[in-house]
Amino acid sequence: MTLFQRRFIFLLITFTGIILPLACYILYQSPGQGVPAASQAIEASPEAAVPGQAPLLTKPVIDKNLPELILVNKSVRMGAGQEPADLRAIHGVYLRQPAAVALQAMLDGAEREGIQGLVVYSGYRSYQTQVAVHANKIASLRSEYKEKAEAMAEKLVAPPGASEHQTGLAVDFTLKSFLDRDYVLNYDFANTAQGLWLRKNSWKYGFILRYDDGKEAITNIDYEPWHFRYVGLEYAKHIYELGVCLEEYLNL
Ligand SMILES: [Zn+2]
Repeated sequence: MTLFQRRFIFLLITFTGIILPLACYILYQSPGQGVPAASQAIEASPEAAVPGQAPLLTKPVIDKNLPELILVNKSVRMGAGQEPADLRAIHGVYLRQPAAVALQAMLDGAEREGIQGLVVYSGYRSYQTQVAVHANKIASLRSEYKEKAEAMAEKLVAPPGASEHQTGLAVDFTLKSFLDRDYVLNYDFANTAQGLWLRKNSWKYGFILRYDDGKEAITNIDYEPWHFRYVGLEYAKHIYELGVCLEEYLNL
């Protein structure tokens, strides 16, 4: 036997006797290193959670005390002196800081997807402003509806303290092409490219369509395809997926 042959046999014994079993042992101990990605994904899913360990969080915890989940409606009103501390100017209106940041991201996102002409029409409104808005609405309906003007106005404009705009988390949109109309917030918005885009995508930026078609009996507000409410990313996603309004969501 030549020296070369002896070395070859030595290497063969070393490989099959030591290195190969060692490699098998390592692979067996850590399957994640040597198996396809799909198996790892199954291991990571909540269904495969080890008993005794908490499963992965699949939905956010609904905490009614979170500022972004504040509920304001005709039954739950804000006081005359309640004013958010972190209001900031954006696109001609005021919004609370997190909502303002999210609004800018949403407008940028819309533009990236070819959606143009969106106009931010209203944001924060103080209690006192709502007093004026409400009174003006009654006055404008008086000649047509006479003594029923108050009841009509109540359907169209929230009374003071009942407007979500006082939270600084609500925003109304209109279109450049609507600005020359008398009533810039109108139902045509629902079927425009901009209105449809907002309905489909606003949750990705933390906003929900607050007064949807079919929820009037619960929200006590007519369908408003232009009114969006900031609730934060995880809640907006959850609310969108469930197809519920904020009142329903907070009562889950
Ligand atoms: Zn509004």
